[in-house]
Amino acid sequence: MTRDFTLSKYEALCKALISSGNRSITVQDYIQGQAVEPFVILRHDVDRRPEMALEMAGMEKDMGIRATYYFRMVPGVFEPGIIKMIRDMGHEIGYHYEVLDKVKGDKENAIVLFEKELKMFREVADVKTACMHGNPIASWSNRDMWQEYDFKDFDIIGEPYLSIDYKTVLYLTDTGRNWENKFSVKDIVTDNIKERIKSTDDIIKLIKSRKYQQMCILAHPNRWTDNAVLWTIELFWQNIKNIGKAIIKATS
Ligand SMILES: [Zn+2]
Repeated sequence: MTRDFTLSKYEALCKALISSGNRSITVQDYIQGQAVEPFVILRHDVDRRPEMALEMAGMEKDMGIRATYYFRMVPGVFEPGIIKMIRDMGHEIGYHYEVLDKVKGDKENAIVLFEKELKMFREVADVKTACMHGNPIASWSNRDMWQEYDFKDFDIIGEPYLSIDYKTVLYLTDTGRNWENKFSVKDIVTDNIKERIKSTDDIIKLIKSRKYQQMCILAHPNRWTDNAVLWTIELFWQNIKNIGKAIIKATS
């Protein structure tokens, strides 16, 4: 059995992007209207293990690929040294906020914390976009605060969940370690996937078919490793999370 979600498999995906003539762009590029078809917005949410993001970023750089890396502001993930190295490779650095979770749903406190954490990020990199972190067990979603506040007031030009037009951009995510998304509770936005996609090989086939001119791929770097031990830990961890999400779905 060949393992999926290895860094080698991700490299194959990147090679398919290049050989099929797609441009890899950042979220910032897309929002600033710099996207020329065919393009793929490459988004990486750094939820854990930032050193794995560094490895992925270096591999992309060697291939001439640029992506957006959203880092959480939590100990062990917000690592200025690593963030600066990824920034210096030419990738976009973004803020993966979860402030509503941190203040237990109070929007007024959340926006104060948003501004504070953003300031800390901007001491490390020029942050122009922010993306919410999903928390399947909370009754709120971190992006709910934008019902009352405007991120543009903080010089943030876009939020992938709110600023990308998924009616025209095909959205593919490894959330749940499964491109099918059946376990994705809150990370998913209304999508337009009509394809049967199960594995990364299916994604590679889809890219090579050149059927879509606009795509957005979300890959969590902590999931993609060639190290068999880390790979197995990730699989185990994800299975537990998926069981939890299935229970939440069944009871909501
Ligand atoms: Zn996240």
